[in-house]
Amino acid sequence: MLSKGSGTWISWNENLSYAYENLYQVSTEEELSKAIAQSDEIRFFGTKQSSADIAAGSASLIDMRSYNKILATNDAEKLITVQSGVVLVDLIEAVEAKGWCIPCLPDINTVTVGGALATGTHGTSGKLLSEYLHSCSLVLADGTVKQISSQDDLMNAVRVSIGVLGVFSELTFKCEELYTLHLKEGPEKDKVWLNNIESDLKKYDFLRVLWLPHTGKGYSIKGSKIKSDQEIKENNGPGYLKYRRTASKILYKRTHQFPWFTSIANKLLYLGFFRAKKEHKGSLYQATVTKSRGSTLELAEWTIGISKFPAVFKELKTTINSWSNKAFIHIPMDVRFVQRDKSWLSYAYKEDVVTMGCVCRNASAADQYEAFKAVEDIFIKHGGRPHWGKRFLAKDKELAQLYPKWNDFKQLRKELDPTNKFLNNYLTVLFNEQ
Ligand SMILES: Cc1cc2nc3c(=O)[nH]c(=O)nc-3n(C[C@H](O)[C@H](O)[C@H](O)COP(=O)(O)OP(=O)(O)OC[C@H]3O[C@@H](n4cnc5c(N)ncnc54)[C@H](O)[C@@H]3O)c2cc1C
Repeated sequence: MLSKGSGTWISWNENLSYAYENLYQVSTEEELSKAIAQSDEIRFFGTKQSSADIAAGSASLIDMRSYNKILATNDAEKLITVQSGVVLVDLIEAVEAKGWCIPCLPDINTVTVGGALATGTHGTSGKLLSEYLHSCSLVLADGTVKQISSQDDLMNAVRVSIGVLGVFSELTFKCEELYTLHLKEGPEKDKVWLNNIESDLKKYDFLRVLWLPHTGKGYSIKGSKIKSDQEIKENNGPGYLKYRRTASKILYKRTHQFPWFTSIANKLLYLGFFRAKKEHKGSLYQATVTKSRGSTLELAEWTIGISKFPAVFKELKTTINSWSNKAFIHIPMDVRFVQRDKSWLSYAYKEDVVTMGCVCRNASAADQYEAFKAVEDIFIKHGGRPHWGKRFLAKDKELAQLYPKWNDFKQLRKELDPTNKFLNNYLTVLFNEQ
């Protein structure tokens, strides 16, 4: 185990930074347990891409990125076992090389698998990534290692646990047969994509809508499973589409000072980058996951039961189109769909949900981006739940109303970590443990 002494931890988008006294790099489970057992307060981080303040801020830190081996596969059951610091792209490439897939992936491949599970990371038209977890080992606050399988009741508490019950160590995923998606993309008026959500979810194997605030449109991406050798009319749109993020960055550069300009920027971005139709095919990973991003972001994301979404959308649209506030929103708001599960802190606990992202493309101006607060107020009012890895203000009192198992989770956390070894300041307030 490498112990690197003191330094400064800085998050991916540079919005969070903390001095630490001790930084561990581990490559075995024994080293992971030892680092935890010998620390009074400790947190652990992956690729530091969460906007929420949940990955550092303790005297001791573990950098999980060197704990990144693919350990084993089981062909008969389509299982793959990895160390939790493995980056998602490496897991997916190993899975696809076997002819398998994990059938619901986020739109990012650079996160660690442990970080992704801890925050309830998800894609669309399937379940949270953590629902594909078959079994795992978890290093507890006293350094002991607990084996947990899908049959154990504890698994439903552990799958999404923000790294406060223990540290994921070895993770085994249950995979499925690899499939090919035929995707068609293009703009649709708000009333069209919104009214068709339920029928499109039945009709398609993949559904995602990039909502384009201030334009009255969404950009829909719809996919159906096909045979891998089926011919399609490939159309990747004009070559300049690849400059969308650069154009956004330039257009949004001063929108924290002149928020109203966002509505003009969004119309220009729609005209330049979201009018063309596209048609292509590939695996879920190859065809739908963004492989590189030119710049950092600050993110929020909210989740609401499908039946409540139209009312939330209507209120949101009215609010952000009103000139009486400064809550203009950068393009796009990512609308995705997650199937219900039983994980205590899952956004989809016992109900199918719609998730809606809110992006500030100028990360350093995130504190002045009023849209985050406006979106949060509306979702909270309707019973929406925040993404654990993204920006939100809600705390214990509100979360107890939103998550039926919140208080059970708190009690379990206290039992497993009686000295609050895993709580930084942000998590202390979140769980009301001051
Ligand atoms: C550009 C971008 C796109 C994104 N797209 C999506 C998306 O499509 N869908 C989605 O749901 N989310 C998305 N996210 C959110 C992202 O998936 C989460 O923030 C994720 O946690 C980041 O992983 P990380 O390795 O950077 O974790 P970190 O930010 O480093 O850590 C996150 C949390 O996990 C804990 N943790 C880390 N490793 C472990 C471990 N081994 N065991 C237990 N806890 C651990 C940390 O202590 C911390 O609490 C996106 C984020 C960005 C920046």
